[in-house]
Amino acid sequence: MHNLQMVDLKRQYQKIKTEIDAAILNVVESAAFIGGPDVQEFAKELAAYNGVKHVIPCANGTDALQISLMALGLKPGDEVITPSFTYIATVEVVALLGLTPVFADVDADTFTLNIDSVKKAITPKTKAIIPVHLYGQSVNMEPLLALANEHNIPVVEDNAQAIGSIYTFANGTKAKTGSMGIIGCTSFFPSKNLGGYGDGGAMFTNDDALAEKLKMIANHGQKVRYYHEMVGCNSRLDTIQAAVLRIKLRHLDEYCYARRQAADYYDKAFKNHPNIVTPYRAPYTYHVFHQYTLQINGFDRDVLNKKLAEKNIPSMIYYPVPSHKQNMLKDFVKDSNFQLPVTDMIQDKVISLPMHTELTEEELAYITTNVLEILG
Ligand SMILES: *Cc1c(COP(=O)(O)O)cnc(C)c1O
Repeated sequence: MHNLQMVDLKRQYQKIKTEIDAAILNVVESAAFIGGPDVQEFAKELAAYNGVKHVIPCANGTDALQISLMALGLKPGDEVITPSFTYIATVEVVALLGLTPVFADVDADTFTLNIDSVKKAITPKTKAIIPVHLYGQSVNMEPLLALANEHNIPVVEDNAQAIGSIYTFANGTKAKTGSMGIIGCTSFFPSKNLGGYGDGGAMFTNDDALAEKLKMIANHGQKVRYYHEMVGCNSRLDTIQAAVLRIKLRHLDEYCYARRQAADYYDKAFKNHPNIVTPYRAPYTYHVFHQYTLQINGFDRDVLNKKLAEKNIPSMIYYPVPSHKQNMLKDFVKDSNFQLPVTDMIQDKVISLPMHTELTEEELAYITTNVLEILG
């Protein structure tokens, strides 16, 4: 078995090499490294893909979240509800802006926000909710949006892991993840489902005024050059990244499909195994499997992780320490008895297997056979 990767970007590149090389060369030859035509074209194409009016590109997914919260005009002390079970960036930006993160629990089957837990976390100070479409599956947005609307709280979606995913409302209406909140954020980190060849990110919105504000904040608070209306930051998507992303966007649906095929293979191999819970696919969402994450019961997850490594099979723990237990955020957890029962439980059970667009049946067979052998 050749060198297995969590994400195999080398083989993916080989299949689109001709297009990618030409696009990068075109940027280099034009020397339009910053704000070149590919940036605007990519923003337009992504807006069409995601069913939103505006896409504002920026430097990375963390910036997208930060700029979004800045644009909402939140003040120090305002509370922002986030899941604790997420990549740290979701919560870090809240703290960075002097806002107060309030942690909600997730559901054990979907790994995404539990609506009752959000309801309990709402106070008069709650000024935003950030649902995270973790591992590639949409949060159950309909009840969340209803709850947020009832309290007049804006929803900012963290769609860094789920671009391409679709949510279906009870009446059958469909919406892409990232298009349902007042703002949606995404990341083009290379290993994401739509990954560039470096850092990148974007914000989605249907609100014209907000789009203008997001654009200004990402550009030093200016609309007219050298006339700065508000404090902003410097957050741009490089032209080379935009050129790469334009090509990869054309393949995104087939990439999501390839991930789902790999997930189907895993599901079938692990079905009904007493130690394994395979990822639940909620009926309201089209899962795009940014990660394929198992829950391991009655067997030490860390032993599985180590024994797989001995067979040269990479596996990862996303995430070993939930946000509410991170030293970085300890000031925000005042009650030493604070618990998030589901988050606290799954942190020791989850393990993610290799998941990408290039997995072959031979590789999947090798991985699944070894997982089953180790578990016995
Ligand atoms: C990757 C990721 C981010 C941050 O994206 P960067 O581009 O690395 O800054 C934010 N939230 C989640 C859930 C992510 O997975």
